[in-house]
Amino acid sequence: MINKNLSPARPGIRPPVNFSQSLPVQNLGGGKDFVRLIALGGFGDVTQNMFVYEYVPKGDLTKSQMIIVDCGVGFPEEDEFGVDLQIPDTKYLDDKKDRILGIFITHGHEDHIGALRFVLPIIGTNIPIFAPRMAAAFIDGRLVEASIRSNMKIYESGDVIAVGPFSVDTIRVNHSVPDTNHFAITTPIGVFYHGSDFKFDLFPLDGKPSDLAHIARVGEKKVIALMSDCLGADHEGFSPSESSIAEKFDHDIKIAKGRVFVTSISSNVVRWGQAIDYGKRAGRKIVPVGYSVNKAIEIAKQLGYVNLTDGDLVDVEKVKNFADNKLIFLVAGFAGQPNSALSKMVMGKHRIKIKSGDKVIFSAPDYIPGTTSHIYDLVDTLSRMGAEVIYGEGQEIHVSGHGFQKEHAILMDLVRPKYLIPIGGNFRHVKSYHTMAKTMGYKDEQLISPDTDAIITFFADGKIDTKLHNQLRKVLIDGLGIGDVGTTVLRDRKLLAEEGMFSVVLLVTKETGVLAKPPVVLSRGFVFEKENADLMDYLNVEINRKFAQVTSKPANFEFIRQEIQAHIESIILEKTGRQPMVLPLVMEV
Ligand SMILES: [Zn+2]
Repeated sequence: MINKNLSPARPGIRPPVNFSQSLPVQNLGGGKDFVRLIALGGFGDVTQNMFVYEYVPKGDLTKSQMIIVDCGVGFPEEDEFGVDLQIPDTKYLDDKKDRILGIFITHGHEDHIGALRFVLPIIGTNIPIFAPRMAAAFIDGRLVEASIRSNMKIYESGDVIAVGPFSVDTIRVNHSVPDTNHFAITTPIGVFYHGSDFKFDLFPLDGKPSDLAHIARVGEKKVIALMSDCLGADHEGFSPSESSIAEKFDHDIKIAKGRVFVTSISSNVVRWGQAIDYGKRAGRKIVPVGYSVNKAIEIAKQLGYVNLTDGDLVDVEKVKNFADNKLIFLVAGFAGQPNSALSKMVMGKHRIKIKSGDKVIFSAPDYIPGTTSHIYDLVDTLSRMGAEVIYGEGQEIHVSGHGFQKEHAILMDLVRPKYLIPIGGNFRHVKSYHTMAKTMGYKDEQLISPDTDAIITFFADGKIDTKLHNQLRKVLIDGLGIGDVGTTVLRDRKLLAEEGMFSVVLLVTKETGVLAKPPVVLSRGFVFEKENADLMDYLNVEINRKFAQVTSKPANFEFIRQEIQAHIESIILEKTGRQPMVLPLVMEV
């Protein structure tokens, strides 16, 4: 169930400015055509990718038409306890929904597709989504779970898609997920090159290098701006090929004596493909663990992106039938996310438990914004438990999916844009990108470093304006609800950590097993109590009902406590998707 109502005046959040109302509509841009570029997840952010390309004919914003590129989630800061996700702020689109011609997806990473299930119900589920095959499969899976029917259209790299005044040329590039694309977006005022996450892997494992010839053809046109992934811009040279870790990765698996666990980003299908190949070669069965990994591998198997048959797979429930050295587990949770499979294995809360002699390979970045300390906590704990841990880029067990300086130089050189606008990186990456661009001969006025909430306006005569702003709110997602987490709740969570707390006090007469008073229900840092009166009422009824079932003469306090706890936990999880700390207190009177 998705709560579509954004609470309007949350503490600490400034109301957004609606520019189509606050600015004079006529004479914008002197009555000339222009194109706006807005990052609804903010410029200078690695995640939450969502860009609006808005064509405004004759400066009349009421007649504008737009396409959206990507619709991804962000990951909240570390002090936003228990909040699952952040999504782009779509307020800018509120009065323009009927003029959104399509959502174009570059690739299937969560920070490019993960917000669709929250955003589509707000902006319209009938808007066509143009996605490559792999991303479409990921998106479909999530939308089905959310009972959202979408208007999905699958494209192949190289397809040209025309919608209204836009024509979108799709171009194959390499990344850590197959089917990744750049877009050359032709508008009535010129071409925009949207160079989202990419690397130029000359030796890709799937034998499909980036389509450099296609990029060169785009560069022969008048390209106004290159929006370029800049995450790797502070690294010199070329981003190492995926094939460069093959030897070490293969060897680490081959020499392992006990069980092997590989953890990576759950959507990193290219990496899972390697783990599967080397695991099979070492005579091991493949055991995907956790929902997201299972889903990714199932989709990759169906689409033929991994060499996997049903016979290679073992269900996590059947691993007891196999010797330790015949198993390789593919596990989500490299970043130490508390609810992930790997964390649960370490905590002993999973069917599979980590033990001495296991080998755990972190084939993943050791830095994700907001998660570093969890990663090292996990590595420390695993080491203490006697597992052999392989981690860190120094171990040649992970390569970035993002291009380094030489790849950026090649892309600039092929596209030859008038303006360079780095995206998908923090401001330090933007800075590195610009420094490098200068050595390539680009001038200061060509290097755009937009404010987070900038509206960049491109005019037909080649001029550019970055002075307007579209104030962005922070939209946080908690469990299944949208935007219902305010700062009060966040502050409580800082004390209680993670999912909040829910407690019920039961005063019971021991000999008779009867409640001396009605149960008292308290919650902290969980949800705004008064906004969830229905849930509280329902819980009250359920607590009374369950108590009647489990009480006895004389009362067994510990049994009652356990039963009530399990019952409340399951109700809250079912109704809200959350797992607060549930603490029943059963006291004698
Ligand atoms: Zn990506």
